[in-house]
Amino acid sequence: MFFQKEIETMKSSELEALQLTRLREMVDYCYRNVPFYHKRLGEAGITSGDQIKTLSDIRYIPFTTKDDIRDQYPFGLLAVPMKEIVRIHASSGTTGKPTVGVYTRQDLENWSDYVARVVTAAGVTEEDVIQISFGYGLFTGALGLHYGLEKVGATVIPASSGNSEKQLMMLRDFGVTGLVATPSYALYLGELKKESGYPPEAYAKLRHGILGSEGCTEEMRDRIEESLGVNVTDNYGMTELTGPGVSGECEYRCGLHFAEDAFLPEIIDSDTLEPTAPGEAGELVVTTLTRKGMPVLRYRTKDITRLNYEPCRCGRTHVRMDKVMGRTDDMLIIKGVNVFPSQIESVLVATELVGPHYQLVVRRKNFMDSLEVKVELTDASLLESFSGLEQLREKVHDKLKSVLGLETRVTLVEPKSLERFQGKAKRVLDLRNEEQE
Ligand SMILES: [Zn+2]
Repeated sequence: MFFQKEIETMKSSELEALQLTRLREMVDYCYRNVPFYHKRLGEAGITSGDQIKTLSDIRYIPFTTKDDIRDQYPFGLLAVPMKEIVRIHASSGTTGKPTVGVYTRQDLENWSDYVARVVTAAGVTEEDVIQISFGYGLFTGALGLHYGLEKVGATVIPASSGNSEKQLMMLRDFGVTGLVATPSYALYLGELKKESGYPPEAYAKLRHGILGSEGCTEEMRDRIEESLGVNVTDNYGMTELTGPGVSGECEYRCGLHFAEDAFLPEIIDSDTLEPTAPGEAGELVVTTLTRKGMPVLRYRTKDITRLNYEPCRCGRTHVRMDKVMGRTDDMLIIKGVNVFPSQIESVLVATELVGPHYQLVVRRKNFMDSLEVKVELTDASLLESFSGLEQLREKVHDKLKSVLGLETRVTLVEPKSLERFQGKAKRVLDLRNEEQE
């Protein structure tokens, strides 16, 4: 099923021609309307879109970073007068000022089309009843999915986050067929569902899990599918680039199709800033091709992924990106070893009797870093056998060592002793700056 079949299955040559036209227009548009880009492009010797002869000429356009966007807080990147803006969103801004996103009426219209494509690719139709358990508010996730799902004609329940008992009640009573949530919240609801005292049939209509806004390993996906009884599809986006709708998985779940007519992706080596070889992993860089309120050129997402230009069985011609492997921001450097939390998650979730709830604690003592991996046992009765516990602990330790090439301290903790998350999970506790001794 397609939402905009003509665009989604466009011949590659036509798609590239469209991208080039739009990229040229976008360069002109930014140069003329955004003082920040006027200066940046001018410094790079670009004063007109005509200088971009081929798509690969994009490499002459300077990057935009999260710091650039923060420096322009709140409205320095606006390309239109404020009266043309009909919506403002902002990212959570856990460190420093939030990142602001602004939208013209046309931007909102386009955005819901992109999201409608993603949810249609995930299998949602007008027959579906979808509960949105993302927190509503400034965050782009909830309203982004909301309008895209309405556009498809699905019935939308704006549940927002929190009040998990009520969430389960709605899942049962409203005939919900799909859940929109973060992977961590979906996992938590799955756990509560099991304990809710209702037979699995009470949730029998539930079949779609449309998860996003944080990474999710394949192993974690399996756990969520098993506990909630859904088919999980991943989708991707961020406030800096509009919100969700940038890319999403189709029914074959072999990568996330980019809305390439609107978002032009590149992969670069984040050290050299040069494009990586085709098919090689690196940092995702995205240029918005249709956004009018706040266009961004070559935004460095810090997300590490790979692009796959092979045709997909679903018929979509738009490039697929791999599930995000990690963020350059999330990477922990411990004793000189690069560690992505997702690597640890894969090991824990795939190991019997432990997981999927875990916490990583990084400490520094006498200038030496150490990593403690706390993971929940799946069953409290395991605590009764000391030797069994020790064997399990060693097993987890050895598996982690072979995957990470690093010694970790593994602590097995009681079931339900670690924090549960209703939005994005915070599983890494880095105490290195606080505990310096
Ligand atoms: Zn596909």
